[in-house]
Amino acid sequence: MESYGQGTVCVQGGYRPGNGEPRQIPIVQSTTFKYDTSEDMGKLFDLEAEGYFYTRLQNPTNDHVAAKIAEMEGGTAGMLTSSGQAANFFALFNICEAGDHIVSSASIYGGTFNLISVTMAKMGITSTFVSPDCTREELEAAFQENTKAVFGETIANPALTVLDIEKFAEAAHAHGVPLIVDNTFPTPVNCRPFEWGADIVTHSTTKYMDGHGAAVGGAVVDRGCFDWMAHADKFPGLTTPDESYHGIIYAQKFGKEKAFITKCTSQLMRDFGCIQSPQNAFLLNLGLESLHVRMPRHVENGMAVAEFLEKHPKVKSVSYPGLASDPYHKLSQKYMPNGGCGVVSFELEGGREAAGAFMKRLKLAAIETHVADARTCCLNPATSTHRQMTDEQLAAAGIPAGLVRMSCGLEDKKDLLADIEQALG
Ligand SMILES: *Cc1c(COP(=O)(O)O)cnc(C)c1O
Repeated sequence: MESYGQGTVCVQGGYRPGNGEPRQIPIVQSTTFKYDTSEDMGKLFDLEAEGYFYTRLQNPTNDHVAAKIAEMEGGTAGMLTSSGQAANFFALFNICEAGDHIVSSASIYGGTFNLISVTMAKMGITSTFVSPDCTREELEAAFQENTKAVFGETIANPALTVLDIEKFAEAAHAHGVPLIVDNTFPTPVNCRPFEWGADIVTHSTTKYMDGHGAAVGGAVVDRGCFDWMAHADKFPGLTTPDESYHGIIYAQKFGKEKAFITKCTSQLMRDFGCIQSPQNAFLLNLGLESLHVRMPRHVENGMAVAEFLEKHPKVKSVSYPGLASDPYHKLSQKYMPNGGCGVVSFELEGGREAAGAFMKRLKLAAIETHVADARTCCLNPATSTHRQMTDEQLAAAGIPAGLVRMSCGLEDKKDLLADIEQALG
C-alpha cells in the first residue's frame, strides 16, 4: 500500500480479503494447522515453504496485523510479540549474543533499561548508556569492537526526551551496526524513524496502537535495508548456516527484506514463545483502524494541558516537546511536525505531598501505572514506580518528588482543563 496515505493503511493495510472472504480480519483461534502429507509439513520445517503449523511461532491473525504495522512504518516485514518488553528483547537478542555489546540512549523506558542493563547482562551482553543529548564524539566513544546494535526511543517514556534519530543512525552505520528505535509514543502516525535512518522499529502496542487499555502486546518491524552480508563477521546468526534449519543462511535465503524477521520468528519465537494471542491481535487491529484519527486528538489535548500548566503559579516546570519552551522542541518539530503524543510531565511546587493531594482531587484523570489510552490517567513516580528512592536519589535521577506524569486521553479538553484547575486548587 506504498502509494496510500497513512490513514488508509491504518484502516485497510495488512489484510486484503478475496471474494466472499470475511471483511474483518478473522481470529484464527487454533493452536495448530492440518496438512495432507508429511512432505507438505516437512517443507515448513525446512523453511522451504511459507505456512503455518503451530501458533507458538506464527498465526495468520497476527501476521495480518503485523503486516499492517509494517506498512504503516514503511518496513518490509514485521511480527507481533506478547508485549513491548518481548519486542525489545527480540529485536536486540536476534543480533546480540554472549560477548556482544549494545550502545543505548540512557533516556528509555525503565523496563527496557532493566532488560538491557540487568537481564541481558546476565546473558553476557554488556551495554554502554549515553545521554540522548551527547555529542557525536561522546557517542563515538561508547562503541566497542563487539558493539552489535544501537538503541533509543523516539520520545522517551517517561522523560519525554526526543531522540536525534539521524545522529544515532549515522553513528551506528559508521560502525556497521543497525539502529533500533522504540517508536511507541509517537506511533508511525506522527513519526516514521525509517525515513531518518533507523533500521529496526519496535513498539509496545499496549499503548496508543491498542489505545483503549485492552490488550498488552508488542511489535518488531524491519526496514529491510540493513546489509547483513556486508558486515557478515558481526552477525553470524544471519550470515552463517543455521543447523536447526538444515544449514540455511537467513541473509542469503531471505534477503535484506525478510532475513531479520524470519530468523526472529523461526528461532526466538520457536524457543521463547512470546507470541501475541490472536484475540489480542484482533483487538489491536481495532485500535489501529482509528489510530490516525486518535493521535491528533491526543496531541491537541496534551498541548492544551501543557500550555495551561506552564502558566499556572503552582506548577514549577512542564516537560512537553510540543511547547516552544521545551529543550526538545526543535528536534520534535524536525521529527514530528504534527506533534508527538499526549503525555505531559510536570513538577508541582510542594513535592510529593502536593502531588498526592492534587491527584486525589482529580475526578477525570485516574491514577494508573499506564499511559496512552483513551482515558486520561496520571502517576506520581515518587510514590509509585520509584517509591524506594529518597528525595535526593529522585532528584539525581531527574525525577523530582513532585513530578506528575499525565497521559492526556481523548476527552473534551475543556473538561480536562477544568478538572486540572480545580485539583490544583
Ligand atoms: C510500555 C513501554 C514498553 C514496554 O511495553 P509492554 O507492552 O508494557 O511490555 C516499552 N517501551 C516503551 C516506550 C513503553 O512505553
